[in-house]
Amino acid sequence: MLTITCDVCRKKMEDPQTNRSFFYYAKHSVCEPCRDNFEYQIKPNLRNKEPFAFDWYRKYVSDTLDKAVQKGRA
Ligand SMILES: [Zn+2]
Repeated sequence: MLTITCDVCRKKMEDPQTNRSFFYYAKHSVCEPCRDNFEYQIKPNLRNKEPFAFDWYRKYVSDTLDKAVQKGRA
């Protein structure tokens, strides 16, 4: 059985379904509750970013997620 650990909250997920019960962001695997918290956090900044640049987005997601992983929560 495949088990994946959420990089943020360290919860283990058995038989996870990609993009349904867990998600890949940057280089991290993230469970659904952490994904929701994370998206809630980054959404206002994404909306305000003009002009939108994909390189900036990738770096922003990766940096924000690195911080969440260090803190142990999104
Ligand atoms: Zn999690």
